[in-house]
Amino acid sequence: MAKRDYYDILGVDKGADAKTMKSAFRKAAMACHPDRHPDDPQAEARFKELNEAYGVLSDDQKRAAYDRHGHSAFEQGGMGGGGAGFQDFNDIFSQIFGGGGAGGGFADMFGGGGGRRNTAQRGSDLRYEMEISLEDAFKGKDIDITVPIADDCDRCDGIGAEPGASVETCSTCGGAGRVRTQQGFFTMERACGTCGGQGEYVSNPCRQCDGQGQTRMQTDLDVSIPAGVEDGTRIRLTGQGDAAPKRGSGAGRQRGDLYIFVSVKPHNLFEREGANLFCRAPVPMTVAALGGDIEIPTIDGGRAKIKIPEGSQHGKRMRLKAKGMSVLRSAQRGDMYVELAVETPAKLNKRQRELLEEFASEGGIETSPESQNFFDKAKNFWDNLVD
Ligand SMILES: [Zn+2]
Ligand SMILES: [Zn+2]
Repeated sequence: MAKRDYYDILGVDKGADAKTMKSAFRKAAMACHPDRHPDDPQAEARFKELNEAYGVLSDDQKRAAYDRHGHSAFEQGGMGGGGAGFQDFNDIFSQIFGGGGAGGGFADMFGGGGGRRNTAQRGSDLRYEMEISLEDAFKGKDIDITVPIADDCDRCDGIGAEPGASVETCSTCGGAGRVRTQQGFFTMERACGTCGGQGEYVSNPCRQCDGQGQTRMQTDLDVSIPAGVEDGTRIRLTGQGDAAPKRGSGAGRQRGDLYIFVSVKPHNLFEREGANLFCRAPVPMTVAALGGDIEIPTIDGGRAKIKIPEGSQHGKRMRLKAKGMSVLRSAQRGDMYVELAVETPAKLNKRQRELLEEFASEGGIETSPESQNFFDKAKNFWDNLVD
């Protein structure tokens, strides 16, 4: 039986672009859509024909094969048979008519069917938020947490039926979990409403889990937070998530994973940047001028002495090697940078004021390197204005 040319079926030229074909198909398919012509075998045949033609021509590869070899391109072994259009049916349909179409998701149509049971199932992943201090991030810590994890109900052993009661195969779907209905030439497949897609039901559901087969148990876990952990780190505990439901998991069950999301609290002394720490240390004006030692805290709980050289300026940065954060999975440590905040004395008593006034009357600009620099620049600025 001679097959009609696909381009003729759609009523487009051989050179038609995708848009032209799509609109031609849409128009023609709408006119003979089975919803509009129930029980009209001619409309149905026409619709099938259109669909097949569009299925081939809207696919660049199949179209190229068709252009070269005609219908024989799809005869046995070729590119998936003349019914190729049906392979792509969902795509075409959601494209053309938008998901809703003939009632109910098209994704449900022609779907594998009956595959519900006997597929391996995986339990849900769980997420646990944990906030730790910077000190703990430095040292690392074992932390006990309690997580509600889904597991087989111990009363019904995950079956969902009261002890002694049985699980019965759903008579509506015969255990498949899915039912098919015929509408025109469409076969619709949906989850069975009687058993909720389980393929079986429990006439006497377990009292403890309400027939679910699972309960969430508060489970204690010991989580090791490694030293050097960064804010926002995600730690995966493989297989510590929810158990997969026992019912409907014919081909094995796999537990989900538990993810620990670690956030590190801001510290009131140290600021962290990767492995390095930053700290602002106040230094009395006299120490900055005369030189001396100051002591500052370190993240490991100890103290570090810093030698302040004579004439240190405000904002000076000093580096303490290997006094920073620990580095993840390494014996190394980052550095600590200390920024000096030179402090001007406030609330002077009479004697202090006299001494400072005396100091001021002695001092010239040469004792203030930054002022010297600033006023040199200012002088240049004014001189240039005059020119
Ligand atoms: Zn139970
Ligand atoms: Zn059923």
